[in-house]
Amino acid sequence: MIYTAYLLLIARNVFLCSSQDCFKTSWSSHKLVHQKLKSDGSLTSEGLQIDWLYCLKKGQTRTPQLPHFDWTGSLRPYPISKWRVVPGTIQKPDWAIDGIPKIEPNSDLQSRVEIKTASQIERMRETCRIAREVLDAAARFIRPGVSTDEIDDVVHEATIAAGGYPSPLNYHFFPKSCCTSVNEVICHGIPDARKLEDGDIVNVDVTVYYKGVHGDLNETYFVGSVDEESQRLVRCTYECLEKAISIVKPGVRFREVGEVINRHASLSGFSVVKSYCGHGIGELFHCAPNIPHYSRNKAVGVMKAGQTFSIEPMINSGIWRDRLWPDGWTAVTSDGKRSAQFEHTLLVSDYLLYLQNLVKLYFLISA
Ligand SMILES: [Zn+2]
Repeated sequence: MIYTAYLLLIARNVFLCSSQDCFKTSWSSHKLVHQKLKSDGSLTSEGLQIDWLYCLKKGQTRTPQLPHFDWTGSLRPYPISKWRVVPGTIQKPDWAIDGIPKIEPNSDLQSRVEIKTASQIERMRETCRIAREVLDAAARFIRPGVSTDEIDDVVHEATIAAGGYPSPLNYHFFPKSCCTSVNEVICHGIPDARKLEDGDIVNVDVTVYYKGVHGDLNETYFVGSVDEESQRLVRCTYECLEKAISIVKPGVRFREVGEVINRHASLSGFSVVKSYCGHGIGELFHCAPNIPHYSRNKAVGVMKAGQTFSIEPMINSGIWRDRLWPDGWTAVTSDGKRSAQFEHTLLVSDYLLYLQNLVKLYFLISA
Protein backbone atom coordinates (compact mmCIF):
# COMPACT_ATOMS: atom_id res chain seq x y z
CA MET A 1 0.00 0.00 0.00
CA ILE A 2 2.80 2.37 0.97
CA TYR A 3 4.55 1.58 -2.27
CA THR A 4 1.44 2.45 -4.22
CA ALA A 5 1.20 5.84 -2.55
CA TYR A 6 4.76 6.70 -3.45
CA LEU A 7 4.25 5.60 -7.01
CA LEU A 8 1.15 7.71 -7.40
CA LEU A 9 3.15 10.64 -6.08
CA ILE A 10 5.77 10.02 -8.72
CA ALA A 11 3.18 9.84 -11.44
CA ARG A 12 1.66 13.14 -10.33
CA ASN A 13 5.07 14.68 -9.98
CA VAL A 14 6.00 13.67 -13.50
CA PHE A 15 2.86 15.37 -14.70
CA LEU A 16 3.60 18.54 -12.75
CA CYS A 17 7.16 18.56 -14.01
CA SER A 18 6.09 19.35 -17.54
CA SER A 19 7.53 22.86 -17.55
CA GLN A 20 11.10 23.85 -16.92
CA ASP A 21 10.20 26.22 -14.05
CA CYS A 22 7.99 23.66 -12.39
CA PHE A 23 10.73 21.07 -12.72
CA LYS A 24 13.28 23.43 -11.16
CA THR A 25 11.05 24.42 -8.25
CA SER A 26 9.84 20.91 -7.52
CA TRP A 27 13.17 19.18 -8.02
CA SER A 28 13.94 18.81 -4.31
CA SER A 29 10.57 17.21 -3.53
CA HIS A 30 10.86 15.18 -6.72
CA LYS A 31 14.21 13.86 -5.54
CA LEU A 32 12.76 13.11 -2.10
CA VAL A 33 10.08 10.93 -3.63
CA HIS A 34 12.75 8.99 -5.55
CA GLN A 35 14.88 8.61 -2.45
CA LYS A 36 11.88 7.39 -0.43
CA LEU A 37 11.21 4.86 -3.12
CA LYS A 38 14.79 3.65 -3.03
CA SER A 39 15.06 3.41 0.77
CA ASP A 40 12.00 1.18 0.73
CA GLY A 41 14.17 -1.50 -0.75
CA SER A 42 11.92 -3.86 -2.63
CA LEU A 43 9.30 -2.81 -5.13
CA THR A 44 6.80 -5.67 -5.27
CA SER A 45 5.03 -6.09 -8.58
CA GLU A 46 1.82 -5.98 -6.52
CA GLY A 47 2.64 -2.44 -5.51
CA LEU A 48 3.51 -1.58 -9.07
CA GLN A 49 0.36 -2.84 -10.70
CA ILE A 50 -1.77 0.28 -10.45
CA ASP A 51 0.39 2.50 -12.63
CA TRP A 52 3.26 0.27 -13.69
CA LEU A 53 2.73 -2.57 -16.16
CA TYR A 54 4.93 -4.85 -18.25
CA CYS A 55 5.33 -3.83 -21.87
CA LEU A 56 3.98 -6.84 -23.74
CA LYS A 57 4.56 -5.82 -27.34
CA LYS A 58 4.81 -2.82 -29.67
CA GLY A 59 1.60 -0.84 -29.84
CA GLN A 60 1.41 -0.30 -26.11
CA THR A 61 -0.20 -3.53 -24.98
CA ARG A 62 0.59 -3.80 -21.28
CA THR A 63 -0.02 -6.50 -18.72
CA PRO A 64 0.34 -6.93 -14.94
CA GLN A 65 1.96 -10.35 -15.50
CA LEU A 66 5.50 -11.10 -16.56
CA PRO A 67 5.21 -12.42 -20.14
CA HIS A 68 6.36 -15.98 -20.76
CA PHE A 69 9.65 -16.29 -22.66
CA ASP A 70 12.68 -18.50 -22.95
CA TRP A 71 14.95 -15.87 -21.35
CA THR A 72 18.55 -16.09 -22.57
CA GLY A 73 20.26 -14.72 -19.43
CA SER A 74 19.45 -13.76 -15.85
CA LEU A 75 17.91 -10.34 -16.65
CA ARG A 76 14.10 -10.02 -16.65
CA PRO A 77 11.78 -7.17 -17.65
CA TYR A 78 10.24 -5.11 -14.85
CA PRO A 79 7.07 -3.01 -15.01
CA ILE A 80 7.30 0.38 -16.69
CA SER A 81 5.91 3.70 -15.47
CA LYS A 82 3.26 5.86 -17.12
CA TRP A 83 3.85 8.22 -20.04
CA ARG A 84 5.97 11.27 -19.35
CA VAL A 85 4.55 14.57 -20.51
CA VAL A 86 6.22 16.93 -23.00
CA PRO A 87 5.17 20.60 -22.78
CA GLY A 88 3.06 21.89 -25.70
CA THR A 89 5.62 24.60 -26.48
CA ILE A 90 8.26 22.08 -27.55
CA GLN A 91 8.57 21.27 -31.28
CA LYS A 92 7.74 17.58 -31.76
CA PRO A 93 8.47 15.01 -34.47
CA ASP A 94 5.44 13.63 -36.35
CA TRP A 95 5.21 10.42 -34.24
CA ALA A 96 4.88 12.22 -30.91
CA ILE A 97 1.08 12.02 -30.78
CA ASP A 98 0.08 8.72 -32.46
CA GLY A 99 3.34 6.73 -32.43
CA ILE A 100 3.60 6.54 -36.24
CA PRO A 101 6.39 8.29 -38.19
CA LYS A 102 4.88 9.56 -41.48
CA ILE A 103 7.61 11.54 -43.27
CA GLU A 104 10.49 9.19 -42.46
CA PRO A 105 9.43 5.90 -44.13
CA ASN A 106 8.24 7.65 -47.31
CA SER A 107 11.24 9.93 -47.77
CA ASP A 108 13.62 9.50 -50.73
CA LEU A 109 16.36 9.95 -48.12
CA GLN A 110 15.85 6.26 -47.27
CA SER A 111 17.75 5.47 -50.48
CA ARG A 112 19.71 8.68 -51.19
CA VAL A 113 22.37 10.01 -48.79
CA GLU A 114 21.71 13.69 -48.22
CA ILE A 115 24.45 16.34 -48.31
CA LYS A 116 23.53 18.69 -45.48
CA THR A 117 23.32 22.46 -45.95
CA ALA A 118 25.28 24.84 -43.72
CA SER A 119 22.06 25.61 -41.81
CA GLN A 120 21.27 21.92 -41.25
CA ILE A 121 24.82 21.32 -40.03
CA GLU A 122 24.66 24.28 -37.66
CA ARG A 123 21.38 23.04 -36.19
CA MET A 124 22.74 19.51 -35.86
CA ARG A 125 25.73 20.84 -33.92
CA GLU A 126 23.37 22.55 -31.48
CA THR A 127 21.18 19.45 -31.12
CA CYS A 128 24.14 17.10 -30.67
CA ARG A 129 25.56 19.40 -27.97
CA ILE A 130 22.26 19.15 -26.08
CA ALA A 131 22.22 15.36 -26.50
CA ARG A 132 25.78 15.20 -25.11
CA GLU A 133 24.75 17.26 -22.07
CA VAL A 134 21.64 15.14 -21.52
CA LEU A 135 23.69 11.93 -21.62
CA ASP A 136 26.20 13.46 -19.18
CA ALA A 137 23.34 14.26 -16.79
CA ALA A 138 22.16 10.64 -16.99
CA ALA A 139 25.72 9.34 -16.48
CA ARG A 140 26.15 11.37 -13.28
CA PHE A 141 23.00 9.73 -11.91
CA ILE A 142 24.09 6.11 -12.46
CA ARG A 143 24.91 4.08 -9.34
CA PRO A 144 23.73 0.82 -7.70
CA GLY A 145 20.14 1.14 -6.48
CA VAL A 146 18.98 3.60 -9.16
CA SER A 147 16.28 2.21 -11.47
CA THR A 148 16.52 2.63 -15.24
CA ASP A 149 13.15 4.42 -15.00
CA GLU A 150 14.82 7.07 -12.86
CA ILE A 151 17.55 7.43 -15.50
CA ASP A 152 14.79 7.88 -18.09
CA ASP A 153 13.28 10.59 -15.87
CA VAL A 154 16.61 12.46 -15.79
CA VAL A 155 16.96 12.17 -19.60
CA HIS A 156 13.37 13.31 -20.16
CA GLU A 157 13.55 16.33 -17.85
CA ALA A 158 17.02 17.43 -19.04
CA THR A 159 15.88 17.20 -22.69
CA ILE A 160 12.75 19.28 -22.26
CA ALA A 161 14.59 21.75 -19.98
CA ALA A 162 16.89 22.39 -22.99
CA GLY A 163 13.84 22.91 -25.23
CA GLY A 164 14.21 19.56 -27.00
CA TYR A 165 12.00 16.51 -27.55
CA PRO A 166 13.34 13.04 -26.58
CA SER A 167 13.18 11.40 -30.05
CA PRO A 168 12.60 7.79 -28.87
CA LEU A 169 9.40 8.75 -27.00
CA ASN A 170 6.49 7.18 -28.94
CA TYR A 171 8.70 6.42 -31.99
CA HIS A 172 6.92 3.34 -33.38
CA PHE A 173 5.20 3.34 -29.92
CA PHE A 174 8.45 3.11 -27.91
CA PRO A 175 7.15 3.97 -24.43
CA LYS A 176 10.11 5.89 -22.91
CA SER A 177 12.44 8.81 -23.59
CA CYS A 178 15.71 6.87 -23.93
CA CYS A 179 16.94 3.28 -24.21
CA THR A 180 18.67 1.64 -21.24
CA SER A 181 20.38 -1.66 -22.08
CA VAL A 182 21.65 -3.67 -19.11
CA ASN A 183 24.15 -6.59 -19.22
CA GLU A 184 22.97 -9.05 -21.93
CA VAL A 185 20.74 -6.43 -23.57
CA ILE A 186 22.32 -5.42 -26.90
CA CYS A 187 20.15 -2.34 -27.53
CA HIS A 188 16.65 -0.82 -27.25
CA GLY A 189 16.12 -1.83 -23.60
CA ILE A 190 13.05 -0.14 -22.11
CA PRO A 191 13.65 1.84 -18.88
CA ASP A 192 11.76 0.06 -16.08
CA ALA A 193 11.53 -0.40 -12.31
CA ARG A 194 14.60 -2.66 -12.07
CA LYS A 195 17.28 -1.13 -9.88
CA LEU A 196 20.84 -1.25 -11.16
CA GLU A 197 23.01 -3.66 -9.18
CA ASP A 198 26.67 -3.46 -8.27
CA GLY A 199 28.58 -5.13 -11.11
CA ASP A 200 26.03 -4.36 -13.86
CA ILE A 201 26.93 -2.61 -17.09
CA VAL A 202 24.32 -0.25 -18.56
CA ASN A 203 24.14 1.52 -21.90
CA VAL A 204 22.14 4.74 -22.08
CA ASP A 205 21.13 5.78 -25.61
CA VAL A 206 19.93 9.37 -25.98
CA THR A 207 18.46 11.08 -29.05
CA VAL A 208 17.31 14.69 -28.96
CA TYR A 209 15.07 16.47 -31.49
CA TYR A 210 15.71 20.22 -31.53
CA LYS A 211 15.31 22.90 -34.25
CA GLY A 212 14.00 20.23 -36.63
CA VAL A 213 16.96 17.83 -36.44
CA HIS A 214 18.03 14.80 -34.39
CA GLY A 215 21.29 14.16 -32.50
CA ASP A 216 21.99 10.58 -31.38
CA LEU A 217 24.66 9.16 -29.06
CA ASN A 218 25.12 6.45 -26.47
CA GLU A 219 27.63 5.14 -23.95
CA THR A 220 28.00 2.05 -21.74
CA TYR A 221 28.72 2.65 -18.05
CA PHE A 222 30.02 0.55 -15.16
CA VAL A 223 27.68 0.27 -12.16
CA GLY A 224 29.83 0.03 -9.01
CA SER A 225 32.67 -2.47 -9.36
CA VAL A 226 32.48 -4.54 -12.52
CA ASP A 227 34.28 -7.83 -13.27
CA GLU A 228 37.40 -7.75 -15.43
CA GLU A 229 35.85 -9.47 -18.46
CA SER A 230 33.08 -6.84 -18.64
CA GLN A 231 35.63 -4.04 -18.26
CA ARG A 232 37.58 -5.52 -21.17
CA LEU A 233 34.39 -5.76 -23.26
CA VAL A 234 33.34 -2.14 -22.61
CA ARG A 235 36.85 -0.77 -23.26
CA CYS A 236 37.16 -2.78 -26.48
CA THR A 237 33.77 -1.47 -27.69
CA TYR A 238 34.85 2.11 -26.99
CA GLU A 239 38.05 1.52 -28.96
CA CYS A 240 36.03 0.00 -31.85
CA LEU A 241 34.06 3.25 -32.16
CA GLU A 242 37.21 5.40 -31.89
CA LYS A 243 38.97 3.37 -34.58
CA ALA A 244 35.93 3.56 -36.86
CA ILE A 245 35.66 7.34 -36.39
CA SER A 246 39.35 7.75 -37.25
CA ILE A 247 38.83 6.48 -40.82
CA VAL A 248 35.85 8.77 -41.60
CA LYS A 249 36.66 11.19 -44.45
CA PRO A 250 35.51 11.81 -48.04
CA GLY A 251 36.18 8.89 -50.40
CA VAL A 252 36.14 6.09 -47.79
CA ARG A 253 33.69 3.25 -48.49
CA PHE A 254 30.89 2.81 -45.91
CA ARG A 255 31.64 -0.89 -45.81
CA GLU A 256 35.14 -0.14 -44.43
CA VAL A 257 33.62 0.85 -41.06
CA GLY A 258 32.62 -2.77 -40.45
CA GLU A 259 36.07 -4.08 -41.37
CA VAL A 260 37.80 -1.80 -38.84
CA ILE A 261 35.35 -2.66 -36.05
CA ASN A 262 35.37 -6.39 -36.71
CA ARG A 263 39.17 -6.52 -36.81
CA HIS A 264 39.51 -4.88 -33.38
CA ALA A 265 36.66 -6.82 -31.75
CA SER A 266 37.84 -10.23 -32.93
CA LEU A 267 41.43 -9.50 -31.84
CA SER A 268 40.02 -9.31 -28.30
CA GLY A 269 37.94 -12.46 -28.77
CA PHE A 270 34.60 -10.63 -29.01
CA SER A 271 31.89 -10.73 -31.68
CA VAL A 272 30.00 -8.01 -33.60
CA VAL A 273 26.19 -7.72 -33.68
CA LYS A 274 24.78 -7.89 -37.23
CA SER A 275 21.07 -7.08 -36.83
CA TYR A 276 21.49 -3.41 -35.82
CA CYS A 277 23.47 -0.84 -37.79
CA GLY A 278 24.58 2.78 -37.86
CA HIS A 279 22.29 5.08 -39.83
CA GLY A 280 21.95 8.41 -41.58
CA ILE A 281 20.46 11.14 -39.39
CA GLY A 282 19.33 14.76 -39.67
CA GLU A 283 15.78 15.96 -40.13
CA LEU A 284 14.97 12.24 -40.11
CA PHE A 285 15.83 10.03 -37.10
CA HIS A 286 16.85 7.06 -39.29
CA CYS A 287 17.68 7.22 -43.02
CA ALA A 288 20.39 6.30 -45.57
CA PRO A 289 23.17 5.33 -45.36
CA ASN A 290 22.93 2.03 -43.52
CA ILE A 291 26.26 1.33 -41.83
CA PRO A 292 26.90 -2.29 -40.75
CA HIS A 293 29.55 -2.81 -38.07
CA TYR A 294 30.57 -6.33 -39.17
CA SER A 295 33.10 -7.47 -41.80
CA ARG A 296 32.35 -8.47 -45.39
CA ASN A 297 29.16 -6.42 -45.34
CA LYS A 298 27.42 -5.26 -48.51
CA ALA A 299 27.06 -1.52 -47.73
CA VAL A 300 27.31 0.51 -50.95
CA GLY A 301 28.71 3.97 -51.55
CA VAL A 302 31.50 6.23 -50.36
CA MET A 303 31.53 9.00 -47.77
CA LYS A 304 31.13 12.56 -49.00
CA ALA A 305 31.62 15.89 -47.23
CA GLY A 306 28.36 17.12 -45.72
CA GLN A 307 26.93 13.68 -44.91
CA THR A 308 25.84 12.94 -41.34
CA PHE A 309 25.40 9.46 -39.88
CA SER A 310 25.86 7.48 -36.71
CA ILE A 311 28.39 4.76 -35.99
CA GLU A 312 27.29 2.61 -33.04
CA PRO A 313 29.05 -0.75 -32.72
CA MET A 314 27.43 -3.36 -30.46
CA ILE A 315 30.05 -5.88 -29.31
CA ASN A 316 29.22 -9.18 -27.60
CA SER A 317 31.24 -11.10 -25.08
CA GLY A 318 30.05 -14.41 -26.60
CA ILE A 319 28.20 -15.21 -29.82
CA TRP A 320 27.07 -12.40 -32.21
CA ARG A 321 23.49 -13.66 -32.51
CA ASP A 322 20.60 -11.68 -31.01
CA ARG A 323 17.04 -12.43 -29.91
CA LEU A 324 14.08 -10.19 -29.22
CA TRP A 325 12.11 -10.10 -25.96
CA PRO A 326 8.30 -10.35 -26.26
CA ASP A 327 8.07 -6.55 -25.69
CA GLY A 328 9.11 -6.20 -29.34
CA TRP A 329 12.04 -3.91 -28.48
CA THR A 330 14.60 -5.43 -26.14
CA ALA A 331 17.36 -7.12 -28.19
CA VAL A 332 19.43 -9.55 -26.12
CA THR A 333 22.39 -11.83 -26.82
CA SER A 334 21.19 -15.33 -27.72
CA ASP A 335 23.69 -16.89 -25.26
CA GLY A 336 22.86 -14.49 -22.39
CA LYS A 337 26.42 -13.12 -22.23
CA ARG A 338 27.05 -9.39 -21.97
CA SER A 339 27.00 -6.81 -24.75
CA ALA A 340 28.32 -3.23 -24.88
CA GLN A 341 27.81 -0.28 -27.23
CA PHE A 342 29.08 3.24 -27.93
CA GLU A 343 27.65 5.70 -30.46
CA HIS A 344 28.38 9.11 -31.97
CA THR A 345 26.68 11.20 -34.64
CA LEU A 346 29.30 12.18 -37.23
CA LEU A 347 29.69 14.80 -39.93
CA VAL A 348 32.01 14.09 -42.85
CA SER A 349 33.88 17.36 -43.28
CA ASP A 350 36.07 18.36 -46.22
CA TYR A 351 39.51 19.85 -45.88
CA LEU A 352 38.26 23.44 -46.27
CA LEU A 353 35.70 22.93 -43.50
CA TYR A 354 38.40 21.37 -41.37
CA LEU A 355 40.58 24.47 -41.79
CA GLN A 356 37.61 26.77 -41.04
CA ASN A 357 36.95 24.88 -37.81
CA LEU A 358 40.63 25.07 -36.88
CA VAL A 359 40.54 28.87 -37.32
CA LYS A 360 37.30 29.06 -35.29
CA LEU A 361 38.89 26.98 -32.54
CA TYR A 362 41.97 29.23 -32.54
CA PHE A 363 39.84 32.35 -32.00
CA LEU A 364 37.78 30.56 -29.38
CA ILE A 365 40.91 29.63 -27.41
CA SER A 366 42.60 33.01 -27.78
CA ALA A 367 39.41 34.96 -26.89
ZN1 LIG B 1 21.45 5.57 -33.45
